[in-house]
Amino acid sequence: MSMEGNVALVTGGSRGIGRAICLELARRGAAVAVNYAGNSQAAQETANLCRELGVEAEIFQADVARSAACEALVQAVKDRFGRLDILVNNAGISKDGLLMTAKAEEVEQVLDTNLKGAYFCTKAASRIMLRQRYGRIVSLSSVVGLRGNPGQTAYAASKAGILGLTKAAAKELASRNITVNAVAPGLIETDMTAALPEKAWEAMRSTIPAGRPGAPEEVAQAVAFLVESAYITGQVLCVDGGMAV
Ligand code: NAP
Repeated sequence: MSMEGNVALVTGGSRGIGRAICLELARRGAAVAVNYAGNSQAAQETANLCRELGVEAEIFQADVARSAACEALVQAVKDRFGRLDILVNNAGISKDGLLMTAKAEEVEQVLDTNLKGAYFCTKAASRIMLRQRYGRIVSLSSVVGLRGNPGQTAYAASKAGILGLTKAAAKELASRNITVNAVAPGLIETDMTAALPEKAWEAMRSTIPAGRPGAPEEVAQAVAFLVESAYITGQVLCVDGGMAV
């Protein structure tokens, strides 16, 4: 199925999984709004790669940790492209630390970016999608949100929160032809996981039945599948080489 004529907003589309999602949606014909926080050069590279695939693409700076910025981001995309069909809540950060020693400021930053960012982008986008009677929303959760992981309480809470948001919004929006789903990646090779200490990386890798980390493109395939599925909503699709089984 083609996404031609559709407009997609991907938060955190400048790098890693977000970039792969932008490219996969572009390959399937969608115009792409590439959001980023600070890395305009990487965002521009993503947009250029999308254009090479024959679609329109623009970059949009916005810090999704701020609810007003989420509203403004969605409005800016609507103003530029005239509609919004697909929202992918991908922007995310991880700040690891044990429950006892985690800094309040970092906990708030993780929850604000990962959970509240997805919440307020979903809220703003759904207003437009309700009027259109069409929408596809996919948010990035994590195996860590399903299973927990010591040293990642804030990150796990943010990613588990995505699941509640997804299921409740799916029920609210289903009658208007808007689906809301989540993808839960395991260990994927990006800048985020490159920052993991060797020991933590190896500990995680050793729990993957497939015996290898995933590639951003493998997550992007799952996101595109959910975007193209009209009758799947409120679901969580693990892309993890069997990690969460
Ligand atoms: P990454 O390589 O660190 O890239 C993060 C992206 O998010 C960048 O594009 C960054 O923009 C953007 N971003 C960060 N804070 C933002 C903010 N406040 N406002 C707007 N954009 C912001 O991360 P990744 O590994 O691709 O992860 C993407 C998503 O998948 C995240 O939600 C992550 O939690 C989830 N995930 C990843 C893995 C994994 O193994 N990698 C596993 C499970 C889930 P700039 O370039 O401007 O900084």
